[in-house]
Amino acid sequence: MYVGTMDHTTIQLLCPECAKDWQKAPNVLPDSTELFHCPNCHASRRMAEFMRTDRDLQTLKQLG
Ligand SMILES: [Zn+2]
Repeated sequence: MYVGTMDHTTIQLLCPECAKDWQKAPNVLPDSTELFHCPNCHASRRMAEFMRTDRDLQTLKQLG
């Protein structure tokens, strides 16, 4: 897995419903407390629940 510089940081996402995993830049994602819809199964959950790890959540809070 490529871990980039600040300019290329990505968030690892994992859907708690369908287990789809993908990546996004933090600046295109909503706040951790906002609702987010899985692009695969359309589950609606708080953004924080799609974070793969705590580190991804912290990255989102810092850069999102
Ligand atoms: Zn899903």
